[in-house]
Amino acid sequence: MCKPFWTRLPGWDSWHHEHCRRSTTSDYAPLVRELHRRAAILRQPVNGTFELTERCNLTCRMCYVYQAPSDRVRRATELSAAAWLEMAHHAVDNGMVFLLLTGGEVFLRPDFFELYTPLTRMGLVVTLFTNGTLITGTLAARLAEAPPGRTEITLYGATAATYEPSPAFPAVTPDVAQASTRWSTPRPARP
Ligand code: SF4
Repeated sequence: MCKPFWTRLPGWDSWHHEHCRRSTTSDYAPLVRELHRRAAILRQPVNGTFELTERCNLTCRMCYVYQAPSDRVRRATELSAAAWLEMAHHAVDNGMVFLLLTGGEVFLRPDFFELYTPLTRMGLVVTLFTNGTLITGTLAARLAEAPPGRTEITLYGATAATYEPSPAFPAVTPDVAQASTRWSTPRPARP
C-alpha cells in the first residue's frame, strides 16, 4: 500500500497523535481541513476526479453525459481499469488524497471493482457519484467491504415533471430508497 504524502510531512505524527487518538467519525472534518491546509501550502493537487464513462442508463434532460449503455464506440474509448490505476498511482505520488469517481454511471462498468478496490487500498478517500439505480444488494455488500468515503445520488427535483420527458425520476426514486435502506443497515460492531 502506498504511504500517503501527508504522513511524510514534518509534524504529521504529533498532529495525528493529538487530533486522532480520540477520533470518532464526527472528528473526520478537522482531519480533512488539515489535509487541505497542508496541501495548499505545499501546492499539492489533493483532489482528483476520474470520469470513468460517458455512458449512462438514464437520459436526464439537463445532462450532457448520457451516451447509451450499449454504445460500443464510447465503450471502446474508455480507459481500462489498469490505465486508471496507473494514473492514480502517479496522482497519489504527487499528493492526491481525495478521489471522485463519476460518469455517466460508474456502475455500468463491469470492471468497476477491478479499479475501485485497489484505489481504496492505496489509501485514497473515494467519493462515488451514481444515479443509484444499479445498486443491487450484492453490489452494496461488495462496497461495504471497503466503503466509499461518501456517495452522492443527486435528485434534480421532487416530482416526475421536473424530469420530463426523461423516465429518470420514476426510475431513480425507488432505487434510491432501496439503496438508502441497504446502506443504512447497521454494521456489526467491531471486535
Ligand atoms: S443519471 Fe446522471 S449521468 Fe445519467 S443522464 Fe442523469 S444526470 Fe446524466
